[in-house]
Amino acid sequence: MRKALALSWEQKGRTGENPAVGCVIVKDGKIVGQGVTSDGGRPHGETNALQVAGRQAKGASVYVALEPCSHYGQTAPCANALIEAGIAQCVIAVIDPDPRVHWRGAALLQEAGIDTIIGVCEDDAFQVNADFFARHSK
Ligand SMILES: [Zn+2]
Repeated sequence: MRKALALSWEQKGRTGENPAVGCVIVKDGKIVGQGVTSDGGRPHGETNALQVAGRQAKGASVYVALEPCSHYGQTAPCANALIEAGIAQCVIAVIDPDPRVHWRGAALLQEAGIDTIIGVCEDDAFQVNADFFARHSK
């Protein structure tokens, strides 16, 4: 998770209105994929990391700095992409304050039978995207 957050910090300020979200995919103790929200906000970190991991994402653990999204915007939701990739576990730093996502991404993962852990390094995850959280708390 620290690595996912480090990726978020590095990308901070380049993702427009979108939060900078780092994602690291670990299998058998090794990082098989990592990514962060691209410049301008798309694609999301999870999508980028899954692309690197490819088939190795099956059965892997995913560490992500923000709850994977669950709404259809310009891209398909990351939660669905993670489910399709066949991951075994998803560790989420903090729940997305966006009402379109809030707890829904995590629920999707849980319903799909993925071991979902929430609140790891939450303070750091909140700080890296403090402006994003502030916008959604209004
Ligand atoms: Zn997403």
